[in-house]
Amino acid sequence: MAHLLIVEDDELLRDGLSAQLMQAGHRIDTAVDGEQALSRLDTEAYEGVVLDLGLPRVDGLTVLRRLRQRLPALPVLILTARDGIEDRVEGLNAGADDYLTKPFNRDELLARLQSMLRRASLPAFGPSPQVPPPPAPGTLRLDPVLPRAWLGNEVIDLTQREWSLLDLLVRHSGQVVSREDVLAVWQSDPGETGVTSNALEVYVHRLRRKLAGSTLNIRNIRGLGYLLENTGAP
Ligand code: CA
Repeated sequence: MAHLLIVEDDELLRDGLSAQLMQAGHRIDTAVDGEQALSRLDTEAYEGVVLDLGLPRVDGLTVLRRLRQRLPALPVLILTARDGIEDRVEGLNAGADDYLTKPFNRDELLARLQSMLRRASLPAFGPSPQVPPPPAPGTLRLDPVLPRAWLGNEVIDLTQREWSLLDLLVRHSGQVVSREDVLAVWQSDPGETGVTSNALEVYVHRLRRKLAGSTLNIRNIRGLGYLLENTGAP
């Protein structure tokens, strides 16, 4: 059994696939458009994805490219329309592992999917890197490329300034970061118009609230700046 994501905007097809794959013993999540798919992929660890290419909001190829940046080895089977040969080639180039052309035979989908999952779990390829063990609740992870931060499996909703502040504190974890250092980093952010030292307090306060429930605490070191410390307990 695998934890799978089905991304398909056609409700009948989506429900049919879900039912079939659940019956085959898999755990299924679904997304109805590309945007929802990306947000699911951000918050859940999947072992495989069935991805329709023609999707509203964010198209399937864009979803595929974005997920490949972060999850290079996650098995992805794409679904394309019969006349979408270019899409199919582009999809494979963008990193799909396999494809099926609509309309397809359900049994064939199941067979292809099983073989794709089997290939991904072959010991020759090592433990599949796309399925890290679920992080302990409260563990902070930062992805500077996206940029995005997670506490456990939950995405932390951060503004650009909060992100820069957190990134700076994490990079200097255990050391005091001066107010001047933070303001200097903010001033180098694109589109930044300048922040006062007083506003900094507000951002630190907000960030502290967003880190509540983690083992991390931002300490005020009077006269010096801020210190990110790991208290070991939430
Ligand atoms: Ca579609």
